Amino acid sequence: MDESLPTAAAPSFAGPPWLADLNPAQRAAVEAVDGPVLVLAGAGTGKTRVLTARLAYILMTRRAWPSQILAVTFTNKAAREMRERIGRMIGDAVEGLWLGTFHSIAARILRRHAELVDLKPNFTILDTDDQIRLVKQILQAENIDDKRWPPRVVLGAMERWKDRGLVPDKVPPGEAGDLAAGKLLLVYRQYQDRLRTVNAVDFGDLLLHNLTLFQTRPEVLEEYHRRFRYLLVDEYQDTNVAQYLWLRLLAQGHRNLCCVGDDDQSIYGWRGAEIGNILRFEADFPGAQVIRLEQNYRSTASILAAASGLIAKNAGRLGKTLWTEADGGERVRIHGLWDGEAEARWVGDEIEARQRAGEPLSSVAILVRAGFQTREFEERLLTLGVPYRVVGGPRFYERQEIRDALAYLRLVHQPDDDLAFERIVNLPRRGLGDVALRLVHQRARAEGASLTAAAAGLVADGEMKPAARKALGLFLDDLDRWRRKAATEPHTELARTVLDESGYTRMWQADRSPEAPGRLENLKELVVAMAEFENLTGFLEHVSLVMENAEAAGGEMVTLMTLHAAKGLEFDTVFLPGWEEGLFPHPRALEEKGSAGLEEERRLAYVGLTRARRRAFVSFAANRRVYNQWTAAIPSRFVDELPKDAVEMSADQGLYGSGGFQTGFGPGGAAEPRWSYGSGEAPRLAGSPARPPPMVLEGKARTVPPRPAPKVPFQRGDRVFHGKFGYGDVTAVDGDKLSIRFDKAGEKSVIHNFVQRAEDAGAA
Ligand code: ATP
Ligand code: MG
Repeated sequence: MDESLPTAAAPSFAGPPWLADLNPAQRAAVEAVDGPVLVLAGAGTGKTRVLTARLAYILMTRRAWPSQILAVTFTNKAAREMRERIGRMIGDAVEGLWLGTFHSIAARILRRHAELVDLKPNFTILDTDDQIRLVKQILQAENIDDKRWPPRVVLGAMERWKDRGLVPDKVPPGEAGDLAAGKLLLVYRQYQDRLRTVNAVDFGDLLLHNLTLFQTRPEVLEEYHRRFRYLLVDEYQDTNVAQYLWLRLLAQGHRNLCCVGDDDQSIYGWRGAEIGNILRFEADFPGAQVIRLEQNYRSTASILAAASGLIAKNAGRLGKTLWTEADGGERVRIHGLWDGEAEARWVGDEIEARQRAGEPLSSVAILVRAGFQTREFEERLLTLGVPYRVVGGPRFYERQEIRDALAYLRLVHQPDDDLAFERIVNLPRRGLGDVALRLVHQRARAEGASLTAAAAGLVADGEMKPAARKALGLFLDDLDRWRRKAATEPHTELARTVLDESGYTRMWQADRSPEAPGRLENLKELVVAMAEFENLTGFLEHVSLVMENAEAAGGEMVTLMTLHAAKGLEFDTVFLPGWEEGLFPHPRALEEKGSAGLEEERRLAYVGLTRARRRAFVSFAANRRVYNQWTAAIPSRFVDELPKDAVEMSADQGLYGSGGFQTGFGPGGAAEPRWSYGSGEAPRLAGSPARPPPMVLEGKARTVPPRPAPKVPFQRGDRVFHGKFGYGDVTAVDGDKLSIRFDKAGEKSVIHNFVQRAEDAGAA
């Protein structure tokens, strides 16, 4: 390794534009290249920019060759962007830089020294499926009940140890608890041994083996001490303990470590991230400079005020000032809507308005808390012909569990759908192995029949092994039963029945991977999507059209992604939908971690708002459909926590009873607007008349959806139809409340959104 340094070149005083444009604090962070530096600063203050400039500065001033610099980013994408930017800044080749994520850099180091930790350099990096299979084998060999201790849970516990840098020998006594029948540590040991035998590592091992390597081979660590003259780390607040230990070991050499981060944006605690790493920095690196950046360059003053006001509600934070020279800009728009469909329509309309105003679609993002939320927006954007991409995952109808569920429905609908048959015949596992399936295929080919028909033939003739024959027979019986149900049950009920009785839902319920809850939410959302269609045929047709449209998109696109995936990014216009209790803060975070969980959710809201440069739109719906049941939703507490002078509140007409919202807020409005919410109460402004109780209806009528407010108001004498009460005549109108004499159900008072004109309902 080359230890000599390139000859120093004296930079001109002001330096190139990328240096001259920095503010004094930023510039200090760039130029303080010697010794440990922590840049602790809020969103949009230029932390990533400083880190990039610092790297370029080190190269430009010839303090190090590219190969002597180690820079860590949170994603591979961020690493790519940083590399390109540096290339543009110094116009030089930046080849040889150690620039990447913790995992990619650790893998690179491990390949060079694999033998020293009993691996070969061509080791395999396992995926989750392989890991699970391995754990399962070990559990079986140890006679541990894998129903009681699902492999995913066991694996998760071992991964948490790895996050903390703990090899089996270092796990503190008593920590294993009763997991895996009290044998968790033994399983961990065997798992690690087994991986070594097959020359494989998992993700956590990449860091873990690096740690072992550095701790047991001082000469190797010294080599890296000599090599890495400068270390730079972005998004430091989300490092876990293993990553922290790894950095600390490497930084002991030249001690030129620069970490940038924001404690208010720590959002990966659930994956082992340790906010304490930031707090420890000064203690670990005595003499460290802590540089604070306070000027935000990204957002308007209103957005910043909204975000700062919100995060101020967190108790556990270091606290910092943020200001901007940017003008106030538009206030953060908060809009209440009737239901999810209305919300998607509203977002779609606003996006079209942005488009008309000449804003490129690529500067618009919709950031959701949970993956399933993208569905409604995807459909709306498709309807409008607005191209979009889903970042960090597939589009809704392309997700694995949605494709599986659709395959079930297609096969019920159309017994000859061989592709659907193939996809789910053994999903969840029914003990139908390759041999059995080959028989089905052979017979189908020989007879020119569908797979379903061929399978029925095989079962009838008994040409299979008894176990397979029985399994296949049961599957075909299920299908027949569901097809009969399809004739009588509403299609949404059918979907639930099929997903439950097939064991598909249960398969994901039993799955302990971090993605499983999201998949279950997606399945529920699928049923919500179906409810918007008359029947199964209509819905399946819609899906195939949606899928076809999706292929056509290209060029400028709106971005849809989760808040977690949006870290570090920025957009001119950001939509933040679904700010409702029960969705955001996410109930799982509150259940599992209580007030710490709530604070992490609040940081997530802060991350969301601070992605916006010019405009932020927060929205919530008063009614959500979960499966095909309507429930009243109340605005997220985060809505209430936004400072009032930074936001502008509005709501769909009729949402808050007769005009209550309008009189309480707006020019000349008397009352100070305040969202009030309590147990199951619908959103409204204090002091305004409450609308009648939320629309959680009983029995069958649960499927009655509220409708958009009628374009032409109802009048006395109108003939109307109500999903639960049937046909009737309007006898009186009071704002959005109608008195209706129903033919069968008698006199009732009903909100206008819940009825439609009889002629629109199809009959009178
Ligand atoms: P986050 O906490 O969200 O990761 P950050 O602190 O990393 O934010 P950057 O993404 O580096 O902030 O910068 C935010 C925006 O401000 C970027 O568009 C960046 O180019 C711009 N910016 C930063 N510093 C300056 C400056 N001195 N002059 C002009 N623009 C700047
Ligand atoms: Mg950043």
